[in-house]
Amino acid sequence: MSHYHKTITELGADLQAGKVSSVELTQAYLDRLEKFKDLNAFITVDSVFALDQAKTADAQIKKGKNSALTGCPIAHKDIFCTDGLLTTCGSHMLANFVAPYDATVIKKFKDAGSVTLGKTNMDEFAMGSSNETSYYGVVKNPWDQDKVPGGSSGGSAVAVAARLAPAATGTDTGGSIRQPAALTGITGIKPSYGRVSRYGMIAFASSLDQGGIMTQTAEDAALLLGEMAGFDERDSTSVDQAVPDYVATLNDSLKGLKIGLPEEYFGEGLDDEVASVIEVALAEYKKLGAETVPISLPNSNLAVPCYYVLAPAEASSNLSRFDGVRYGHRAKEYTNLDDMYEKTRAEGFGAEVKRRIMIGAYALSAGYYDAYYLKAQQLRRLIANDFTEAFKKCDVIMGPVTPTTAFRMGDKTDDPVAMYLNDIYTIPVNLAGLPGMSIPAGFDKAGMPVGLHCIGQYFDEARILNVAHQYQQVTDWHQKIPPGFE
Ligand code: GLN
Repeated sequence: MSHYHKTITELGADLQAGKVSSVELTQAYLDRLEKFKDLNAFITVDSVFALDQAKTADAQIKKGKNSALTGCPIAHKDIFCTDGLLTTCGSHMLANFVAPYDATVIKKFKDAGSVTLGKTNMDEFAMGSSNETSYYGVVKNPWDQDKVPGGSSGGSAVAVAARLAPAATGTDTGGSIRQPAALTGITGIKPSYGRVSRYGMIAFASSLDQGGIMTQTAEDAALLLGEMAGFDERDSTSVDQAVPDYVATLNDSLKGLKIGLPEEYFGEGLDDEVASVIEVALAEYKKLGAETVPISLPNSNLAVPCYYVLAPAEASSNLSRFDGVRYGHRAKEYTNLDDMYEKTRAEGFGAEVKRRIMIGAYALSAGYYDAYYLKAQQLRRLIANDFTEAFKKCDVIMGPVTPTTAFRMGDKTDDPVAMYLNDIYTIPVNLAGLPGMSIPAGFDKAGMPVGLHCIGQYFDEARILNVAHQYQQVTDWHQKIPPGFE
């Protein structure tokens, strides 16, 4: 078995047993991602930087001063600030930006001794569902290279799916971990809002953004989430709650588990092949001792319009900092300060980002605020209440992650609404602030992966990880590797 077939849990064990050094492992991954660089999964790879960290890790292991992650290579979405490495957020605006500090997530992984393999490609400022808005170009889906990998964490998803990295960080504002995980056949978890610090994670929509992890298995997700989660005094919205040992409860029995099936998630718009894969997966859960209960999330159909008022509103405010004065891109020629702002922003941002800034500024403007922003906030409460009601009847909620499997590049670029509808099942979870996972559950007839969505109660990541892990003990969808990448 090659290194790249192994999970973080297995690689960690090999490192500690001295079967491989971190330098060897890191070099093997660097060679592999160079070999498959046409997938365009990475924006920045700095082998000197990575191997330096690997050397330090090897020294730590020799001294016995190691954690389970010491020496394990991990890729990071290019939205997390990394001291000494470019952080572009997929944008021309930040194409020259080297952060002077590490995001909390990066710092935690560094402190645990892991190696930063590189920074992964993403939709510009995490706005997108296909990775087609990246200034650095689209990422190819290894299952069919004419198809998109999903977004915005498309580079991270492809890095893990093609085994270019054993794990990668991601962020999920409306589905950006779960949707690309589903479209590339990997495991992805978006924790509850507040579970993982947003410090140093470039802001898109602050009340929705949440960092998480993309892996081969739920077991790795449990290990890595445990490492990245926790209260951070530098993020006032991070929650001061102890982080449980997620690995410890992975083997809990699912006997008597109540799985809620929202009728709204199985209606019109859901592709038949995706629906049948989900059905088979649910039958597997019944064999594991779970039962299903019908539930309703009546305001689900309003989630996308609600999100596309709130997220752009927050984005228009967050992105006002990119003005050419402090850092990032600055137009070369201008006549006065206003002209400099205008040219800088016109050149620095791509079309989708500009669209969101305009929608957001409009929704927040005097005279429209009550009609759009305030209404959307009220709706957000109703959507969250739907989940609270539903969880009175069940322990977890399941359904599809996406209405269809991966689509062709270019298919939806001219139709923003069609693109936005990709996140119809994921967005409500962000609006409510709940944890959600995508679990590999099978393939459609064209051989494209399908993800099973598992939504948990607030701060009950342990439960959904346990539910995913038990399924992965009796199925092998998560072990499938795209043809040509075995
Ligand atoms: N696709 C959604 C959007 O474009 C969600 C993106 C995300 O979760 N970052 O806003």
